[in-house]
Parts: sequence; C-alpha cells; structure tokens
Amino acid sequence: MVNLKQFNYGELERWVRKQGWKKFRAKQLARWIYNKKAGSYDEMTDLSKELRNYLKENTKLNALELITYEKSKEDGSIKLLWRLEDGHTVETVFIPEKGHNTICVSTQVGCAVGCTFCFTTKDGLIRNLTTAEIVDQYIQTQRFVGLDRRISNVVFMGMGEPLANYDNVKKAVQIMTDDRMLGLSNRKITISSSGIIHQIKRMYEDSSFPQVRLAVSLNAADQKTRTQLMPISETNTLEDLMDTLNSLPVKTGYRIMLEYVLIKDVNDRPEDAHRLARLIGKNKKRYKVNLIPFNPYPGSPYERPDEDRVNKFHQILWQYNIGAFVRWSKGQDISAACGQLRKKDLGEKISFLTKESLKT
Ligand code: SF4
Repeated sequence: MVNLKQFNYGELERWVRKQGWKKFRAKQLARWIYNKKAGSYDEMTDLSKELRNYLKENTKLNALELITYEKSKEDGSIKLLWRLEDGHTVETVFIPEKGHNTICVSTQVGCAVGCTFCFTTKDGLIRNLTTAEIVDQYIQTQRFVGLDRRISNVVFMGMGEPLANYDNVKKAVQIMTDDRMLGLSNRKITISSSGIIHQIKRMYEDSSFPQVRLAVSLNAADQKTRTQLMPISETNTLEDLMDTLNSLPVKTGYRIMLEYVLIKDVNDRPEDAHRLARLIGKNKKRYKVNLIPFNPYPGSPYERPDEDRVNKFHQILWQYNIGAFVRWSKGQDISAACGQLRKKDLGEKISFLTKESLKT
C-alpha cells in the first residue's frame, strides 16, 4: 500500500490523475498532509466520505509510530523514538533554540560508515529509511511539540549517512523545500556527510537536488588520525576530500560546515588546531568550523577534552581568522547529542513523561 508521504509534488499529482481524479486533489491532499499536518484521513473534512474511505483502504498516511520520548532537563531538547512498520526503531531529536526550532532527523537504521567515536554505528547498517519515514519524522515531531512551535531548521545528522541513502534523502529534501508541501527555506536545511566524495559531487551536479547546506565530518587534519577515527578515510582520503570541497560551486551564504569532534589527546592538541588552519589555508571564506567536544557514552573508547583545551583550540583557529564555533551538544543527558543516537534505546533510562510536562 502506497504511503502518500512517499511522493514529491509531481509524483503526487501523477498519482492523483491515475486514480481518475482532477489535479486539484493533489493540492488539497498536500495542504492537509504538509500544511495542516493531519494525522488521519478523518481530519480532512473537505474531502467527501467516499474519498476518505478510498484513501483509508488504499493508502497510508503515517510511516512511524511513537514509542517513547525523553526531554532533556538541561536544555529542553526532546528525543523521540519511533517504531517503523518492520519493527525497527529510529530516533529524532527536537532542539528548541533562541528564536527558532531545529529537528535532527535520521536517514538510516544504523550506519555502515563505522566511525570509531560513534555510538550509532555499533550495530552496523540495517537498512535505509524510505522518503516517507524521513519526512514523517518532521511532521510527527511537529504534531508532537505542537504546531505553534514551528520547526524551521532541519539537520540530517541523526542516525545514518544521508548520502548513502541518496535518492530517498533527495526526495525528502524536495518535499521539505517545496512551497506546496513543507515549504522550508533551503538555507535552513543541512545535510551532514562523513565525506563520501563521489556522492558529494553527485549532489552538487544534480540539478533536481535542492541546493541546501552541506556539513562534512572532518574530525582530523591529518590522514592518519582521520583514518583512525573514520575508516572511510582510507578510500575517501583527506586530500581528495579537501580538493573536492575546495572546488564545489558554493553559493554566497552557503558556507560548508566542517564538523570537528574534539577528542581528548587524539585530535585536540594545539598542533592539531594549527594543522587544521593550514589545511583550510586560503579557503577561509568557504568554511565554517564547528567544534564539538566529544560526548562519552557507556563503554566509549574516547574521552571529552576539558574546557580549557577546547577554548585553546578555538582561539588558535580565530587567530587564523577562521570562523569557528564551539557546539556544546544539546541533549547530552538524554544521549541525544551528535553521534549518540542508536537503533535501539529502549532501556530503562527513558522516562515516560506526560505530553503536558513537555510544554513547560
Ligand atoms: S558519525 Fe555518522 S557517519 Fe559516522 S558512523 Fe556515526 S552515524 Fe555513521
């Protein structure tokens, strides 16, 4: 049975015509699904009963079922755990920020990339998420937190490597940026990749992939350390990656974000900061550096650097006039921070809160 969130607008129109209906039905459906974020066909009150029954019998509207959620006492971010139709689970994080709200979506169940500092990768890759499963994370989270707390920013930084699920992610981005559907600003969507070079090039050459922001996990400024942290660097070398990033046609206002997880005594020394500055070299205007102090998890092989070390690293980059920012990850107390989402996290530590208490 087809899920309607699987279609971009052109496909939705084609599907509507195939049912023998007039084109305006596509507009009507898109308004209910994406604008009003209807959770059931019964909410679509301007559709005839007959039509609603047809839709109920022949299509699906939702792709996820909420199992549980947890709210951070530190910063109000909320981690939501969803069950997919085949029983697998994925997580989404809602992050309230000053003046706007962000959602961090997952794109795969597990991940095959195998970064050694990442909690998500421990079970390997199970499968790609469908377009509907990606888009529904946005819609259902928005319903959950309330339509008055509009989610304006989307980061593809949850479980999985987005560019390894290229077609489904591309269609999800089309749905998110289409004014007839979710209508988000392209500038407020970020795809974060571990640095799969041919997929990054493909994305920039693909005229049907809406232009959004790119973030790349760098994590080291030398090949040896990067390979230790990210085995993908063996085949997608640091040198080739930087050559590619330096030559991408990046629009003004769309700087590439270099993500750098700072790990104690691995990549956080002053000489690492100088090396990173030299690696960026004359391309300072092309990049912004996000420094993310590592979030240890139970059994993690690495430690978080202390604050002085983080600040020193940050200062060195500024001395080179490189735009660098420290991101003390949100939601640390609920394991919602970068690299901490996991396929299954149904442990006792998830507390059941009432929906009302989340709004306080
Ligand atoms: S950091 Fe991202 S790309 Fe690397 S293993 Fe984790 S989820 Fe995959």
